[in-house]
Amino acid sequence: MTCELVFVGTELLLGDILNTNAQYLSRQLAALGISVLHQSVVGDNPERLRQVLETALSRADLVMTTGGLGPTKDDLTKEVCAACFQKKLVLHDESLRRMKAYFAVKGVEMPKTNEKQAWMPEGAVIFANDNGTAPGCAMEKDGKRLMMLPGPPREMRAMFQSGALPYLRRFSDGVIVSTEIRTFGIGESAMAQTVSDLLDHENPTVAPYAKSGEAMLRVTAKAQNEAEARALLKPVVGEIVSRLGDKVYGVDVPNLETAVVKRLRQLGLTLAAAESCTAGLIAKRLTDIPGASDVFGCGVVSYRNEIKQKLLGVDPQLIARETAVCEAVAVQMAAGALSQSGADLAVSVTGLAGPGKDERGREPGLAYLALTDGSRTETRTVHTGQTGPDCRDYNRTVFASHALDMVRRYLSGRFGAVITFSKDCDA
Ligand code: AMP
Ligand code: MG
Repeated sequence: MTCELVFVGTELLLGDILNTNAQYLSRQLAALGISVLHQSVVGDNPERLRQVLETALSRADLVMTTGGLGPTKDDLTKEVCAACFQKKLVLHDESLRRMKAYFAVKGVEMPKTNEKQAWMPEGAVIFANDNGTAPGCAMEKDGKRLMMLPGPPREMRAMFQSGALPYLRRFSDGVIVSTEIRTFGIGESAMAQTVSDLLDHENPTVAPYAKSGEAMLRVTAKAQNEAEARALLKPVVGEIVSRLGDKVYGVDVPNLETAVVKRLRQLGLTLAAAESCTAGLIAKRLTDIPGASDVFGCGVVSYRNEIKQKLLGVDPQLIARETAVCEAVAVQMAAGALSQSGADLAVSVTGLAGPGKDERGREPGLAYLALTDGSRTETRTVHTGQTGPDCRDYNRTVFASHALDMVRRYLSGRFGAVITFSKDCDA
């Protein structure tokens, strides 16, 4: 089955909001084996919406819309869709009842304008909205199907799961399952070269991606059911992991911090951080993971030099001589964080996030990192090569990733390499 997605809302065209519904629906439909061949965004304009729908219906079996189901005058998706299928709108009693109950719970009377949301195309399958007022629906005519979902992502996702997904399952020809192999410390092209013969594979397909200083391979299989798809993935994922070796930090894990927290937890070790140019980003990323306090108890943001001295015991003469951005300062910051926190390990970073050069004319994108366990200390120098006016965010992200990668590699070196796999993927 082929599908076209139509996103309705002038706010999308103006760039006021990001079209997150597009990503969500595309992923969900891909997992069902339904091919999304086009996506369009159109404003709250009935004539242009009609044109987009006609084009979409001429080339796809299924057209799905989000947005424009609200109670106000500019919300016209249902009216235009119904007209496309020559259906009239009829009052759907159950939807009206649910809507009234929704307002009653809040202790307010339903505004008259909301009643419009309970008028649905005749003969449509109605999807109840558990998180808002606008119901969704699906209708069929001459083998073509049109489905409408509300715009607010929270409402749309819940309705997709409870209403649209069961409706669509009967049309899906097989499933598509993807696995992501995440690496750190290798560029996208070098990674792709290592597996170049596999990139021509048809099923599963292997595709490289780069994101915020990381490179990733997505391996995707299509089969009749999930077990068959996973069986196709398994040998290819295994082959890639063995070729990329210690560059791989996880399979189907969302990020480096997840892999680090998981491994620290397995080993019963704790970590502290001392951050200058990343100003808490390492701590933030680690504590994005629920329950991270098991392994992470202390992050020092030592942004100004006197704080490096006061809280971490960095030698002010060293800073005066070498500036705060040097390897020796990173080493002293890590040592300070270790002794202040009592953690098993401490990692530190000092560097130039940019934009602009420092007083010695050094370009941004330079950082010095250190990791210590009290008896052994490792250091790393990073040059991201990003020096432009927008480099600051990128550089900080990459510096923090390097710090996490140092922890990961230290743990592998001392306690044996373990690749973090998500749930049941045991390739
Ligand atoms: P509507 O169903 O048109 O009343 O949508 C109401 C709100 O949902 C909008 O103001 C947006 O905040 C949000 N919304 C609509 N379409 C999208 C979309 N494609 N992606 C993300 N949010 C959306
Ligand atoms: Mg709207």
